[in-house]
Amino acid sequence: MADVPSSGHGQTHTGLVREQNEDALFVEPARGLYAVFDGVGGHSAGDVASALARDVVHAALVEHDGSDWPGAMSTALVRASADVYAEAQRRAERRGMGTTAVVVKLLDRRALIAHVGDSRVYRCRGGEVEQVTVDHTVIAELLAQGVVSQAEALEHPYRNVLSRNLGGQPSTDPELTEVDLREGDCLLLCSDGLSDYASFDGIRRVLTGGGGAELKAKSLVDLALRGGGGDNVTAVVIDYGAPAPRRTQVMRTVGARTWAAEVDSFASEARRLGISTNPVAMAFAPDEPGRLGVAVAEAIANDLQHTTGAHLWTLAESLARDWFARGGEFKDVRELLDILRAAAQQVVGGIGLHDQQSADMLEPAIARAMVVGEIAVGTVLAGRLRGIEEELAARGVQRRWTDAFAARHATLPLEPVPVEPPTPDVVACLEAALGAVEAQLRETSTEEPGVVIDCVERCHRACVEQAGAIDGAQVASDLFGTRLLGEPAIAPLLQAMDRARLLHLAGVNSVTQVEAVVRAAAARRLVTAHHAIGSAVARIVVEAAQPVTDELLEVKAAANRLRSEISANEERMARLENQYDDKTLPGWEPPKLGDEDGPR
Ligand code: CA
Repeated sequence: MADVPSSGHGQTHTGLVREQNEDALFVEPARGLYAVFDGVGGHSAGDVASALARDVVHAALVEHDGSDWPGAMSTALVRASADVYAEAQRRAERRGMGTTAVVVKLLDRRALIAHVGDSRVYRCRGGEVEQVTVDHTVIAELLAQGVVSQAEALEHPYRNVLSRNLGGQPSTDPELTEVDLREGDCLLLCSDGLSDYASFDGIRRVLTGGGGAELKAKSLVDLALRGGGGDNVTAVVIDYGAPAPRRTQVMRTVGARTWAAEVDSFASEARRLGISTNPVAMAFAPDEPGRLGVAVAEAIANDLQHTTGAHLWTLAESLARDWFARGGEFKDVRELLDILRAAAQQVVGGIGLHDQQSADMLEPAIARAMVVGEIAVGTVLAGRLRGIEEELAARGVQRRWTDAFAARHATLPLEPVPVEPPTPDVVACLEAALGAVEAQLRETSTEEPGVVIDCVERCHRACVEQAGAIDGAQVASDLFGTRLLGEPAIAPLLQAMDRARLLHLAGVNSVTQVEAVVRAAAARRLVTAHHAIGSAVARIVVEAAQPVTDELLEVKAAANRLRSEISANEERMARLENQYDDKTLPGWEPPKLGDEDGPR
């Protein structure tokens, strides 16, 4: 038995993509025993592996006499591995099945953890959350050895390949970990369907927020689903020595209810302020643009109830990411945030007309929710900038944004690249090559976008120019035209240029009626031209990126302003809470609470 009372709750979901749930778990608060298993194996063998491992481990630990917990946990996992392996040998379609396992036993002021694979344990203490297990993946081990960087590990195609599992071999090698616990700490056990689809920040917000283990586990699964739900997701949350609900939490529940009753008035206020014609809101729910107002109000209500910002953060983040991925502009997001903020202020003002105390309590909480939305959008913008920067770096443009800032007015043109004027047989070879490329593009015209043809033709004209230089800047600015910066403009243009260069070179090589030395000269000329044009396009991209940089600076400045507003508001909220605690505000009592789950 755990010496300090604990409560725990597990939640599992198939996710939005997989057909069945191959995760398994057990939750035994009375015994202080908790576990998560994540099965792997084709032909629906993964669920067999995880369920079998769960049953074997559960039976072994429930029967254990309590003398040597580390030994018992290790033995239980090794036995489960033998049983899963034996089962896999019995039927061909189950060969190679296996599972991860993470098992927790609570003891006096500490938790013993045994694990194999990449299911994790996090410990939350105060406002901090740390991962206390090390993933048994090939990449985590390479990372620990310093062979790959943190950034490479996150993006690595083999990041989910396990270095240890349970059942893939007759035996296994469980890792034992011990962490100390204090009253008020909480532990999270999860499968990678949570850690891959909910951001660490989102997880932290839920775990450090209010509510019991059940609300937290449900919120975490919700987060992974909102994050795409690409895998089965399981979360087991353990509250160690769960403290009695504080007066402030009771107050927050009341605040959440007051707000939840205003969801419709928030939505109609947002409609009055023009949300229905905002392009981001229209993209969110094409049939019912006003729907976004309701979704935002509900996310705020959830966050108030659970004392996190996780729901609104996740909503704002996925909304902004979708919008920018479609090529949407920042000003539309800005307008949306302004509408939502104004609508929220109106609603809180309206509450204040009949219930000033609730309005006073809600005002800082709502201001804070709006800041969470702003920062989430700022984070997405920052991520986009990094992406553009990486793309430029990958193409040889080593230019920092600060340099781009300084070079703001250093516009084109770049110096033309000097070359010898082409000889008549090189021109003839290039003409023949152009004919060959055009013939090929006509055959595959449904697949090749017009911009590829455009690249080839403009490059050709630059190459056959009789002047002794190739003016890459001119071609680049023609190609770039009046495009605005955004994914739809940049990435496809750079891809089209790559494709054009390859096609064009193949075209030159296909010209057999000239001598090899002429083909080589034509190819050299072509490569020079493509290089000059590519550099010039990259330079234009850097300059065109400037407005995005400005937008980011604007968002950061707004976020900073709002951060200082938050701390002022938090002081005010703390003051108000103290007043309520001291009962110095006469005439107001929190309404009696009904069911503990609060508004839905
Ligand atoms: Ca998984």
